Amino acid sequence: MSEVVSVKPHSKYFGVYVVEMEDGSIRLATKNLVPGTRVYGERLFRFENVEYREWNMYRSKLAGALGNGISEMPIREGHRILYLGVASGTTASHISDIIGVNGKVFGVEFAPRVMREFVIVADSRKNLIPILADARKPYQYRHVVELVDGLYADVAQPDQALIVADNAEYFLKDGGYLLMAIKARSIDVTKEPSEVYRKEVNTLKERGFEIVDVVHLEPYDRDHAMVLAVYHR
Ligand code: SAM
Repeated sequence: MSEVVSVKPHSKYFGVYVVEMEDGSIRLATKNLVPGTRVYGERLFRFENVEYREWNMYRSKLAGALGNGISEMPIREGHRILYLGVASGTTASHISDIIGVNGKVFGVEFAPRVMREFVIVADSRKNLIPILADARKPYQYRHVVELVDGLYADVAQPDQALIVADNAEYFLKDGGYLLMAIKARSIDVTKEPSEVYRKEVNTLKERGFEIVDVVHLEPYDRDHAMVLAVYHR
């Protein structure tokens, strides 16, 4: 375990902690729901008898968005969240830490290989519910997923906004939030946003989403931005 000087709740983001290391560097972390276990080789920190897991901004786009000051982090204890493209659960494991034992993440993933890894993570984190399915076919998992407070999307598909909107119609409550990783080049005022980016944001607006913030993930991820939006039915 690494030496830490202090761990403090983040001044802006619920369930997120700021870890100050001996060398003066600052890390983001969440409280480990399953002490003693790692999910993706992340560092574990112990401070005042509580164990935290480093939330790596280069490995998780949501952590990158927090590092770059997204206006709000809407995830709260007890929330139910539908996660499209959960992969092996790197980001989902931190959401699992934040929502705690009373929350649920319905994790949709269509690639069996990474799903197998996610199932292992979900074995020790009972608030993660693996769903091996295609996010383009929400009707196939409508009997498993409940009405959710939030939708997290990172399926890396060019028509992701359509996939998100179809899932929102089934599962996202009125006033619920969306966090969506979107392909976007670095923010450069001299460059126009790409056609795909513009089309994706327009689709979201047409299908009931009000955009709250868009934050680029550079330097943690050069190709993506994180969109935060609110859904109106
Ligand atoms: N969000 C993950 C994280 O932060 O830990 C990383 C997600 S990775 C960029 C994208 C994932 O979406 C891949 O695992 C891919 O298999 C999955 N995916 C792509 N299209 C999908 C679809 N139509 N339905 C379900 N999963 C899909």
